[in-house]
Amino acid sequence: MSAAPEIGIVGGGLAGSLLAILCARRELRPIVVERDASFDESTTTDGRSINLALAARGIGALRYAGVLADIEPLLLPMAGRRVHEDGAERFLPYGQRRDERIYSVSRAGLSRRLFEIARDRFGVEYRFRHECTGITAAGRAQIRSAQDAYELEASFLVGADGAGSAVRRALEAAGVVRATEDMLDHGYKELTLAATAAGEFALAPEALHIWPRGNFMLIALPNLDRTFTATLFLPLTGEPSFASVGADAQSFFAVHFADAIPLIPKLEHEYNAHPVGHLGTLTCTPWSHSGRVLLIGDAAHAIVPFHGQGMNAAFEDCVELDRLFDEHGSEWPRICAEFERRRTGNAAAIATMALENYREMRDDVRSPRFRLKAELAFELERRHAKFIPRYAMVMFHPEISYAEARRRGAVQAEILELLTEGARSLGDVDFKRAAALIAERL
Ligand code: FAD
Repeated sequence: MSAAPEIGIVGGGLAGSLLAILCARRELRPIVVERDASFDESTTTDGRSINLALAARGIGALRYAGVLADIEPLLLPMAGRRVHEDGAERFLPYGQRRDERIYSVSRAGLSRRLFEIARDRFGVEYRFRHECTGITAAGRAQIRSAQDAYELEASFLVGADGAGSAVRRALEAAGVVRATEDMLDHGYKELTLAATAAGEFALAPEALHIWPRGNFMLIALPNLDRTFTATLFLPLTGEPSFASVGADAQSFFAVHFADAIPLIPKLEHEYNAHPVGHLGTLTCTPWSHSGRVLLIGDAAHAIVPFHGQGMNAAFEDCVELDRLFDEHGSEWPRICAEFERRRTGNAAAIATMALENYREMRDDVRSPRFRLKAELAFELERRHAKFIPRYAMVMFHPEISYAEARRRGAVQAEILELLTEGARSLGDVDFKRAAALIAERL
């Protein structure tokens, strides 16, 4: 009879599968229980969050796990934002180095590939359609399947079961953790921008497209099949909102996104068939229980998607946990304590920056002052090694923690504000003063 698994992982999603690979590499005998059907059985996503932006933190984690080459064929580079306004398009690059790109990746494709690597290369056991329904006082997962109800035997249990985590809810019910979900009063809906009749991308593929409209926006990320997945972010109530639009997407789009209408042939159908997704920030403390159950990824710190960092942060969690396995062996309580010490401040920082980025995407990108600041930030980056635009710190500099990116970003925002007061172009900026401010404050 084989020994009980060392690591039980609840949730075979993005974080669960990457962690399973990392654990298997160290012979920690992971087992994954996943509520949903196996990838071989299910062919659909539920019409929500079809693709995701992968950035340097996520890429670094995949490289660390030795699986990046398997994932690369799924990636589509995006070098910047293409802003659609007044019938015209403006390109705002994400960075100024060739490798400063983010990548659109299919959620289903990435999850499936990670699962296949875990199963086929490392022999990880997955139990699909096995749902965690609770946690015992001893910290064991209670699992229910169509045939069975049992307690998962494992030395250490990781809850990687996403924003609605059953592991976290069970710990909350037991009074062991406290969690709050700050729901945004905006929701989202996904739609498909079709390929052209010739099977080509209908818009420039190497970009994330945005139609910013002040209090709401439409965005689109490319897919391998040359479609784009568009996401409408809109208030839930008020004017305009999902409530006020009702079933009449056509009229709403005709007023606000007329140029996108010809690109979305199934607008009416998809708008009415797809659910409105809800968004929120989850704060949870602590992330562990009795030194033998630990929450990671969205289960511990779900955030709004506007910085494209939820999955990236979840992957960083996996790497951090793996490093702790290396440093502390199977001293689970110590690993939990150290994981929380290293990750909670960073999770809080990216949660805040993700909220801030919503305003930037739906509104600020339209303003000449914002664009001047972005241009100036690139110029300062060229002139001063210490100055790295905040977006770049988050997306392209995994060696800078989220907390540090937020701290430095706030100082830099003040510097940019001071230097662009009354300026219309870079020619109006006092670069001597810039050098002095950077030397003094950064
Ligand atoms: P999940 O991916 O949610 O996986 C959880 C898994 O646990 C699932 O497989 C689920 O079926 C399983 N499960 C749930 N309950 C149970 C149970 N009781 N028992 C057993 N199994 C269970 N992040 C980015 O980095 N870039 C982006 O561009 C981006 N865009 C986003 C857009 C939208 C609209 C949304 C909503 C999110 C976006 N995110 C993005 C965030 C990203 O989706 C999450 O951060 C990421 O999926 C977290 O991974 P996870 O493994 O922790 O959770």
